[in-house]
Amino acid sequence: MKKIPYGRQWIDSKDIKEVVKVLKTDWLTQGLKVAEFEKKLAEYCKAEYAVAVSSGTAALHLACIVAGIKQRDEVITTPLTFVATANAIVYCGGKPVFVDVEKDTLNIDPKEIEKKITKKTKAIVPVDFAGHPCDLCEIKKIAKKHNLLIIEDAAQALGSEYSPPHQKFGVGVKKKIGSFADITIFSFHPVKTITMGEGGAVLTNKKDFYEKLKILRHHGIVKNSGKGGWYYEIENPGYNYRLTDFQCVLGISQIKKIDKFIKKRREIAVKYNEAFKDIKEIITPAEKKYVKSAWHIYPIQLCLEKLNVDRKKIFETLQKQGIGVQVHHMLIHLFPFYQKKFGYKKGDFPIAERYYQRALTLPLFPKMTDKEVDKVINVVKKVIKRYQK
Ligand SMILES: *Cc1c(COP(=O)(O)O)cnc(C)c1O
Repeated sequence: MKKIPYGRQWIDSKDIKEVVKVLKTDWLTQGLKVAEFEKKLAEYCKAEYAVAVSSGTAALHLACIVAGIKQRDEVITTPLTFVATANAIVYCGGKPVFVDVEKDTLNIDPKEIEKKITKKTKAIVPVDFAGHPCDLCEIKKIAKKHNLLIIEDAAQALGSEYSPPHQKFGVGVKKKIGSFADITIFSFHPVKTITMGEGGAVLTNKKDFYEKLKILRHHGIVKNSGKGGWYYEIENPGYNYRLTDFQCVLGISQIKKIDKFIKKRREIAVKYNEAFKDIKEIITPAEKKYVKSAWHIYPIQLCLEKLNVDRKKIFETLQKQGIGVQVHHMLIHLFPFYQKKFGYKKGDFPIAERYYQRALTLPLFPKMTDKEVDKVINVVKKVIKRYQK
């Protein structure tokens, strides 16, 4: 029996044809396709500039550098994210200062942010968990008041939309994620909205950030054309975070399908919401009126008090029956490194911790067939019924 994975890419014959075309040319890396991909991505997200890099993690690292994160600076973020978010802060010598999440969206709780701001705080890194955008307006108000930069980790939210809430006339017009924060990053790992195998991008409206990002992804090389064709200088050592042309051409081909992919993801989410709404042992993920989520994942919560087994047993039973469930994410403050280095401990973030204990991600990806969706629904219902109190 083939397991239904929690997420996977959708590559079609057009994607493959485009990649093969590039492989037959003279330019395999850092050629015209990179610039073309960046232009298309920036246009899609309505941002001024995009810089394509080798992964979402590389994008976060460069974002932290251009934001000026240095030794002993503090950066506010959420413990409920993929570990790369906090690792990038650590790469720069910074301290990730975690803030607990909202109970419904599971995103960083804006009401808690201000309590953690000190003289050392340099930036806020909100993460759009599961593709659901953070309350960006509230976060922006706090950032402005304290003169902090916002680096939005939107690795899970390419194609998601946000409209400022709490306005006089209700919810305003929704806009794509990508230009709300000072810097926004995306990932193109196979489970994300679109893929290039590996890949990432940094988006910004600030020209000086854009120029620095381009230099940093290419070793820190600054050309000085007056001194000869071979000549360059290094003011700050950078990295090799470049992407290849055959990856970018795949990205260009995939961008055309973002809206189709998200439509499929949203249809599956609606089906799940409907199927599980009367199952009292399951809490389905929320979607606020002020967003349109790209539904990167579909994380449910098990009401363990209504079940006679633990989450591990449910996880293993579903896995055995061909449902490739996952848990997103392991909480960062509880990893040994983060406990030892920064003194975090169990109990620090009760809402995130309660969520984590009960979390289970069900399969959701655009290429999922109706039959697969039905199978997930039926098996989950059956397993829950078997173990209900
Ligand atoms: C996937 C992901 C990343 C890392 O992206 P890579 O391309 O795998 O390096 C960072 N942050 C979040 C929230 C992610 O989901």
